[in-house]
Formats: sequence, C-alpha cells, structure tokens
Amino acid sequence: MTPEIAKAILVIGAVSWFVIRLPHQKRSWKTAIRSSQRTTREKLLLTCSLTGLGFIPFLYVFSGFPRFADYAFQPVLAWLGTAMFAASLWLFYRVHKELGRNWSDSLEVREQHKLVTAGLYRYVRHPMYTAFFMWAVAQALLLPNWIAGFSGLVGFGILFLFRVGREEQMMLDAFGEEYRAYMTRTARLIPGIY
Ligand code: SAH
Repeated sequence: MTPEIAKAILVIGAVSWFVIRLPHQKRSWKTAIRSSQRTTREKLLLTCSLTGLGFIPFLYVFSGFPRFADYAFQPVLAWLGTAMFAASLWLFYRVHKELGRNWSDSLEVREQHKLVTAGLYRYVRHPMYTAFFMWAVAQALLLPNWIAGFSGLVGFGILFLFRVGREEQMMLDAFGEEYRAYMTRTARLIPGIY
C-alpha cells in the first residue's frame, strides 16, 4: 500500500458509490412527491456534505493541496480504510434496495410512501447515514492529511446533526404511531449504542 494507491482507492470508492446510487437517483426524479422540505437550509447541508466528502478530498487527491496539513502515511491505516470503504459500499447497495422508491436525497415524503422497517431498517433507523459515516471514516484513514482526511466527517457530520431530528419529525408527521413505535425499538446509527 502506498499513498498513491490509497488515493486511487478513495476515488474508486466514490465512483462506485455514484454508480450504486445512479439508478435510484433516476427513479427518484420520476417518483411523485407528496410533501417536500427541500429548503435552502437543506441545500446548504447537502453542499456541506458534498464539500467534505467530495470537493476537498478530490482537490487533495489531484493537486496535493493543502500540503501543509500532511502527516506520515501509515499503510495499516490505509488498509483499514479500504476495508471500511468496501463495507460502506455494501451497506449503500443494500439500503438503497431496501428503501426502494421511498428514497430521496433530501427530506421528502413520496406519494404512497411506505415505512420500511425490514432488513437493515429492523436494527437502525438511519443505516444510509451509518454508511456515509463509514465512508467519512474511510476517507480519514486513507488520506494522510488533517484537512482532506477529516473534512468528510465534518461535512457529513454537520448534515447529520442538523437533519436527523427534522427527518424523524417528518416521519412522525407522516406515519404517527407507527413511526413512534418503530423509534422505540431501533437505534439511530449503531444497534444498541446510538
Ligand atoms: N435516514 C435514512 C434514509 C435516508 S434517505 C437512512 O439513513 O437510511 C432520506 C429519505 O428517506 C427521507 O426523505 C425519508 O422520506 C425516507 N425515509 C427515512 N426513513 C425511512 C423509513 N424507515 N422508511 C421509508 N422511508 C424512509
């Protein structure tokens, strides 16, 4: 493992994520929306996440900027990051399948929206956000740079912190008791922990 290979793995991971998401994104454009909270606030949060998981690490991979924040590369960390990225892609693949037409990249309730409580959703309410956090951790392990490595955790962390409560409120408004009961038997991100 070398720093160049670690950078290539990050790029391959991000492209694979895009390929996994693309058919779902296309279907979501055609699926009718009942109510939407795609506000300026939401768009800013999505921009934060895109900057931290996409723009900053890609700038680093292709230009080396910001070089002053580099630290010594540790192959073992990069191997761990590779395993973490692979696990997150598997999770993305599964949760996209499980959410199906109910998925949206923002806060939206679809026409004929169904509450998904099976598969990975049996254990946690936000497995897709778990997958994004795993990607962000993988980025920190793959890139030996304090800024480009950790920007994913910061960018996605901001989106998560400011979105998750609103998303759960939106689901409570849409599904009432069914979602309230579902909340009592599930964790947010990691079974039994949080
Ligand atoms: N927070 C979830 C889903 C992310 S996608 C996760 O991390 O896995 C965001 C959209 O998914 C929201 O707009 C909401 O409409 C939908 N959603 C969230 N939880 C859901 C569930 N359990 N069943 C069906 N749709 C859900």
